[in-house]
Amino acid sequence: MEKKEKKPIGLTTRIFIALLLGAILGVVLHYFAPHNYFFDTVLIDGVFYVVGQGFLRLMQMLVVPLVLCSLICGASAIGDTKTLGKVGVRTVGFYIVTTALAVAVALTVAKIINPGMGMDLNTLETTETGISASQQTSMVDTLLDIIPKNPLESLATGNMLQIIVFAIIVGIILAKLGDRTQTIHNLFQQGNDIMMEMTMMVMSLAPIGVFCLIARTFSGMGFDAFQPLIKYMLAVMLALVVQCLGVYQILLKVFTGLNPIRFIKKFLPVMGFAFSTATSNATIPLSIDTLERKMGVSRRISSFTIPLGATINMDGTSIMQGVAVVFIAQAYGIALTPMDYITVIATATLASIGTAGVPSVGLVTLSMVLTSVGLPIEGIGFIMGIDRILDMSRTAVNITGDAVCTTIVAHQNKALDKTVFAQQND
Ligand code: ASP
Repeated sequence: MEKKEKKPIGLTTRIFIALLLGAILGVVLHYFAPHNYFFDTVLIDGVFYVVGQGFLRLMQMLVVPLVLCSLICGASAIGDTKTLGKVGVRTVGFYIVTTALAVAVALTVAKIINPGMGMDLNTLETTETGISASQQTSMVDTLLDIIPKNPLESLATGNMLQIIVFAIIVGIILAKLGDRTQTIHNLFQQGNDIMMEMTMMVMSLAPIGVFCLIARTFSGMGFDAFQPLIKYMLAVMLALVVQCLGVYQILLKVFTGLNPIRFIKKFLPVMGFAFSTATSNATIPLSIDTLERKMGVSRRISSFTIPLGATINMDGTSIMQGVAVVFIAQAYGIALTPMDYITVIATATLASIGTAGVPSVGLVTLSMVLTSVGLPIEGIGFIMGIDRILDMSRTAVNITGDAVCTTIVAHQNKALDKTVFAQQND
């Protein structure tokens, strides 16, 4: 391994400084900058938009080839289907349990805070949701949809779950055929090397990208814009914090014995990145890299569990959905029965599987949860306006959940190097 050249300020710190400066500048622009051609068109919708989106696109560019190559290599390295099956079952088990816990946390917090009490949504104007009943995902289709009809189409459209399924099968076959397919195996391994190098290059631009993304987001939102929704936001945020700093850290400590504070400290840059992009998918390369370099999690495990988690494990999203159900029910004056709450836990867990790791999709799959207990999907229009900041926050929790489960599964499969975790990096 070549040594990283010493820089005066590490990349992690630079990303955080950029995040902070971007937020400050955004708020200042929102409250103090005059609405004129320079600020609105040239700066906010020009420079910030182009640079921010450009960076985001670069990160997204990495995802499909990286997941394909690293997952094929990961699956072929695990080799025998028995171990792979064991890792797979454990991972999916963890993902489902943490999501169900997340919804339970969300419902509890929402029932304590009562975000929709004293509000009547019928009298409030809702914005166009753009989400129709026809867009609701049925549970059966969600499950069936993991099998690709055409793997090339899955790659071209970036359907992660289908890519994962196909890549795992190819990996298993490569391991089975051994020397006979060495050339193809090498091809994917070298592809993997190329994509990791590309990740490093793109990441070096992160401070600039994050600065522009955050500055633009904050410049568009005034704090007073979300007054009636403050309670709803607080409830979502509180539940996210409980899940992230409570549930995950207890699981981590119990199953691996690792120090939760150290874990969070090392993982913060990835969370910051997920926060600024609101995209689990784009976070995959950074997450795999951080888990390997700072936590000692072998790529053999993470190359499989992280893309899978970014695709099917959305604890933060299901927290938003749990709180939104209570909020919308209260605001419409509809009483939910205990059975309804159980239905919400089940459907929100399934919705989490069906939610793609890109911005705002959680709102679309929320319709599936709302209709499962007979709530009007028009309620989504009301919370949509302030969803961006929650989307950012829940994405950070989504990917933390993936990382915690990955670390636990790696520990159970002797693929966790605790000496790396103990080291002080960055
Ligand atoms: N933005 C979320 C993610 O990428 C998905 C969502 O909740 O909309 O993880």
